[in-house]
Amino acid sequence: MRAAVIGAGVVGTLIARELCRYPCDVLLLDRAPDVGWGITKANSAIVHAGFHDAPGTTRARFCVPGNALFDEVCGELDVPLVRVGAWVLALDESELEVLEELLARGRANGVPGLALCSPREVLADEPAVNPAVAGGLWAPSAGITEPWALALAAAENAIANGADLRLGHAVTHVRVRNGRVYAVQAADRSWEADLVINAAGLWSDRVAAMAGLEPPPLTPRRGQYVLLDKAARGLARAILFPAPNPLSKGILVLPTVDGGILLGPTAEDLAPDAREDTDTTAEGLQAVVQGAQRMVPGLDVSLSVKVFAGLRPESPSEDFEVGATEVEGFYQAAAMRSPGLTAAPALARWLVREQIAPTYALRPRPEFRAARPAIPHPGILDDQAWNAWIERDPPFGKVICHCNQITEGEVVEAIRRGARTLDGVKFRTRAGFGRCQGGSCTDEILLILARELGIEPSAVDLGLPGSTIVRGEVRP
Ligand SMILES: Cc1cc2nc3c(=O)[nH]c(=O)nc-3n(C[C@H](O)[C@H](O)[C@H](O)COP(=O)(O)OP(=O)(O)OC[C@H]3O[C@@H](n4cnc5c(N)ncnc54)[C@H](O)[C@@H]3O)c2cc1C
Repeated sequence: MRAAVIGAGVVGTLIARELCRYPCDVLLLDRAPDVGWGITKANSAIVHAGFHDAPGTTRARFCVPGNALFDEVCGELDVPLVRVGAWVLALDESELEVLEELLARGRANGVPGLALCSPREVLADEPAVNPAVAGGLWAPSAGITEPWALALAAAENAIANGADLRLGHAVTHVRVRNGRVYAVQAADRSWEADLVINAAGLWSDRVAAMAGLEPPPLTPRRGQYVLLDKAARGLARAILFPAPNPLSKGILVLPTVDGGILLGPTAEDLAPDAREDTDTTAEGLQAVVQGAQRMVPGLDVSLSVKVFAGLRPESPSEDFEVGATEVEGFYQAAAMRSPGLTAAPALARWLVREQIAPTYALRPRPEFRAARPAIPHPGILDDQAWNAWIERDPPFGKVICHCNQITEGEVVEAIRRGARTLDGVKFRTRAGFGRCQGGSCTDEILLILARELGIEPSAVDLGLPGSTIVRGEVRP
């Protein structure tokens, strides 16, 4: 059985990994130069509890089981997961009704541990919250993770189990004969495939159209964010949601797994073709800050270290498109808007174990290995343990990123695992993610990349091809 997964975001990589449990030749294709550089790269990173989605929707169906699978999947793949819990805050009496609705919705969806709490209880847990808060809905199962780290880890694990990852390959054709899929094509390369899984995120409508389906076009809905430095830590211990609006879950304040505070996102519908428009705008960022300060009035925006934006793939149904289609062998994991990250592990499991494996009589391979170790990070150790490590492996004693204590050894290991650009190193190690945002480590990482890859420093890209950092000769 030959399977081609189109899209190496969190959804496609988890599906590819799941397929590797079976006797399948798995090909994972992405048009981007690295794994997880689509929607997976820029979102709120929340493992949602599952109370926002209306019962009966596909989103609700996969969100709660997806949330429950995160401990197992993040444990196996050595990816950070912190179950910080979530509050939905009623900031005046009129919003208390919304909390009741979300409670009923969450209970219908099977969300564990939901509780309506008094202002005193909210403020005891979250002292920085607006003292005018009228009440809160508490959801202990909500958590935070690093979506790109999950995608990278799932891809690494799939490769270790035999998958073939091809980056920089934009699929242009899905070949169908007599109602059956038989190949995929990217530029001048073609691969035969008995199964094709469409996990192409914002472009999943276009990939579905390549197979002859007629999906309604997706609309990019932009979400802008402001990231605050670790010095803002403590402003929110849990994820703080306002009462949701018809377009989105509202502007949130939440901790990140590495100790920062994230504010956002906006919800702006863009033109259907604006699928790369991740620009931030003055109005958007102002809306983020105002929305966040409504919940946490003392928030200090001068602690901001980065602004960015991500794009949600919105379909007219406002739901995921998943499962078998009228084209035999062509499966959808498409239109994965929020809570697509949370849903991804459950969706991948259902699609492969309950849809594909029984249809093609596939039996699990006993040799599949589920574990994948993260890049070792000595910065979390005490001095004695770190010194012992340096004795064994000196590059783990040379700190390159001082904000996050990332060593040369980690950068080299990231390159060994597939990083080819500065962003590739950053998203694998967190070097450049800290307060100075790469101000002090970019040149060193650039030189390490050039040295390890055997190329000139002027050939090292920031991210996309051609995004070079330096010109001419560089003398270390
Ligand atoms: C602002 C925002 C906030 C969000 N917050 C949350 C949250 O907190 N929690 C949550 O659960 N969900 C959240 N989501 C949703 C979640 O991020 C997405 O559902 C998830 O990342 C989608 O992953 P994906 O793999 O489907 O898409 P992607 O990550 O976009 O992966 C699709 C891949 O397909 C590739 N591709 C496209 N076309 C082709 C082609 N023709 N050939 C080859 N490759 C192709 C792309 O390059 C891309 O890498 C949020 C989304 C946004 C935008």
